[in-house]
Amino acid sequence: MSGVSPVPDPARGPDDDGTPDHGTSDRDTSADVTQTEGTNFDDIRADETGADDASGTGRSVQGTARTAAGPVASDSAGANSPVPLRADVLVVGAGPGGAAAAAHAVAAGRDVVLLDAATFPRDKTCGDGLTPRAVAELSTLGMADHLADRPRIDGLALHGWGARQEIRWPSSGRFPDHGSAVARTEFDDAVRDFAVRRGAHMVQGAKAVDVEMSGDRIASVIVEHDGRRHPIAVDQVIVADGVRSPLGKRLGREWHRDTAYGVAARAYVRSGRADDHWMGSHLELRGPDGDLLPGYGWVFPLGAAGGHQLNVGVGALATSRRPAQMALRPILEHYTESVRAEWAIDGPPTSITSALLPMGGAVTGVAGRNWMLIGDAAACVNPLNGEGIDYALETGRLAAELLGERHGDHTHIWRDLLVDHYGLAFSAARRLAGVLTVPSAVPLLGRPGIRSGRLMSLVVRVMGNLVTPEDSDLVARAWRTAGRVSTQVDHRPPFR
Ligand SMILES: Cc1cc2nc3c(=O)[nH]c(=O)nc-3n(C[C@H](O)[C@H](O)[C@H](O)COP(=O)(O)OP(=O)(O)OC[C@H]3O[C@@H](n4cnc5c(N)ncnc54)[C@H](O)[C@@H]3O)c2cc1C
Repeated sequence: MSGVSPVPDPARGPDDDGTPDHGTSDRDTSADVTQTEGTNFDDIRADETGADDASGTGRSVQGTARTAAGPVASDSAGANSPVPLRADVLVVGAGPGGAAAAAHAVAAGRDVVLLDAATFPRDKTCGDGLTPRAVAELSTLGMADHLADRPRIDGLALHGWGARQEIRWPSSGRFPDHGSAVARTEFDDAVRDFAVRRGAHMVQGAKAVDVEMSGDRIASVIVEHDGRRHPIAVDQVIVADGVRSPLGKRLGREWHRDTAYGVAARAYVRSGRADDHWMGSHLELRGPDGDLLPGYGWVFPLGAAGGHQLNVGVGALATSRRPAQMALRPILEHYTESVRAEWAIDGPPTSITSALLPMGGAVTGVAGRNWMLIGDAAACVNPLNGEGIDYALETGRLAAELLGERHGDHTHIWRDLLVDHYGLAFSAARRLAGVLTVPSAVPLLGRPGIRSGRLMSLVVRVMGNLVTPEDSDLVARAWRTAGRVSTQVDHRPPFR
């Protein structure tokens, strides 16, 4: 594995990866595994609050006509507003979290500016898998049609230790019985476009680099755009700037890595089985030298609409005590070879990238008087399967709803709301995920476990966090009890 750059070592700090700051969509091509989320945002300086006069380029969005809520006919894909002088609601980051927040806030009658450092469509390192939870949330947003020509995924095909189990997603409760998969380049642009069609003012290529405070409120957000710094006066700010959350960090957000976090890499391959109805998941992951690794592999079919491709990836769980010492690229290449025949893969893996995953609400400082962190910025990723698109969409909706409540201070209300929605499940899940970072634990639990279809059905339901507060069966009650016990003994409970 020599000569291969491993993923950034989070033990050095999430921003300490030595990659140049080229903006969020640029890549460090010197690394063997390209790190789309490896951008160094340490140029945000607390003392750098001055700003150029933006009057030449900015404009106020106050008083501009708002598009009626709901999709409009025109093609908004290329829409890009100039940097405004002020915003009623400023959403920083136009991934699924920020775009969903913007779309919901516009529907509730707010003037919304949605800005992103990247220019869309942009890539995002991901498995591209949409769980039933994400499919449900897309429907709530009004985007169910988006999945019409995408694969309908019935469940997980679990592999390991000589066994294979096809486990369907559970069919009861508030979630549908299927998932899907869409490449993020397309998916994120579609959600962003939906928000713009609803009436959000989109500013692309605009990086939020600082804030000006007035007491404990954000008075303005400083944005770099076209080589100039522009202050945007704000009433409310939703921070959806992803895994490293540079603006969140500026506001005091801290990511704690004593509980489980993820490191993962993905690639795309062409396949004769891209229309499959099962997501492949390999619990027994072996490296090129045959060693068992504390990780997992996945194969997610993207369908004909996804260019007859599969998203193939490998990931590992880690903690600051047990960092993942793995070079992901050779492992991913080896894994791709190991599933090549089964998945009718044609050609080499392409577009290999890797990234970190904050998980299980392992951040503090998720809100202030007039701002809230959502999605990855708030570490809303399921520690047991690395899914975060659903939580990004959900927290976008929840934050937009909170904007409408005139309580005057989000600081405790937003944190408590996140605890209320995700605290128990995240606490139990990350405790279990922490156990799985112990190398001997995976075969000990996996070898006998994968042979039991009943046990694996339970695992898929719990792993997917498809237990809802309304569920009153034994598994749901046991999982909630585990969450309560886990939270009580947590050194640092989720979001606290
Ligand atoms: C390898 C890997 C595989 C994964 N697989 C899955 C999966 O299969 N299913 C799943 O559900 N989840 C998966 N996830 C998790 C998922 O990718 C994230 O949870 C999800 O992208 C979170 O969405 P978000 O909107 O919070 O952030 P993002 O999608 O990261 O969006 C953040 C946006 O903020 C912008 N931004 C950043 N800084 C600034 C700034 N200073 N100013 C302006 N804009 C800024 C960025 O350009 C970006 O567009 C995976 C993650 C990884 C790393």
